[in-house]
Amino acid sequence: MIWFQAAIYTILPLFLFYHLLKTDFASRKQLILDWLAVLMFLAFIFIIGPWHIYNHYLRWLWPALFIIVSFFALKRIPKLPMKGPEKDKGYKFSIGIGIGLVLYFGFIAVNGLSGYILAERDQAIELTFPMENGVYAFGHGGADPSINYHNEYLPQQYAYDILQLNSWGMRASGLSPTNLEDYKIYGTPLYSPCSGEVVHAVDEYKDIAPQESPNEQGSPAGNHVILSCKGADVHLSHMKPGTVEVEEGEEVNTGDRLGKVGNTGNTTEPHLHIHAEKDGEGVPITFNDRFLKRNSLVFN
Ligand SMILES: [Zn+2]
Repeated sequence: MIWFQAAIYTILPLFLFYHLLKTDFASRKQLILDWLAVLMFLAFIFIIGPWHIYNHYLRWLWPALFIIVSFFALKRIPKLPMKGPEKDKGYKFSIGIGIGLVLYFGFIAVNGLSGYILAERDQAIELTFPMENGVYAFGHGGADPSINYHNEYLPQQYAYDILQLNSWGMRASGLSPTNLEDYKIYGTPLYSPCSGEVVHAVDEYKDIAPQESPNEQGSPAGNHVILSCKGADVHLSHMKPGTVEVEEGEEVNTGDRLGKVGNTGNTTEPHLHIHAEKDGEGVPITFNDRFLKRNSLVFN
């Protein structure tokens, strides 16, 4: 499955570009429709795709190539007939498919984009990014379930799942390695994102193997720390066993070490889950005044 998905993100766009450049379109309408369908497909994978798995920087290659391809593809318009063989079944079918694809991918892309807008911006709390020395990618983040699966669960509606990228722009060495150490973020030190009090600290669960179906460890958060700061409870979850350095009741300052990133609790691979909640409702978090979404990067 992961290889199939990888092909969609890394190879399929090349076929679509080839299609736009080389197909003998029967009419201007057909070319423009196919061009729009490719545009919507690229928007869909750009916004919804988890690029940290494949290569974050490839995400930007496709739009850049699309601009060049569009120049050559659209240049062919004047040479094509205005009207196609409107009665031909194959032609009608291809126009129908084109319209369907534009609507389908367009709808998903717009849905994803809607999650970039934070309606409750004034309620966001500003935190200090809790990790250093690296490039961090957001696997889940934003205000729509299509880019942040937590969004459907009120207390975690603005949660972030954060990965770290290696020099290849990938979150691991390989597509889905089974070794924890192959994930760049595994063992990365975690620092307090705010000054406040530790209201809960747990360090009793073992790491689970990556890419296994999440098991029930008794605590979905696994080893975790909850801080009370800025009027909210800030949760940092899935920490590495034996690394939690703070205790309940302790006061911490921004930048104090809390522990390390691990893979405990309800998780499929090493990542930092962070969310803030108040009275059972998720509170948006900003880092450096940015509300982050899937595929956002933080260079720290
Ligand atoms: Zn999460």
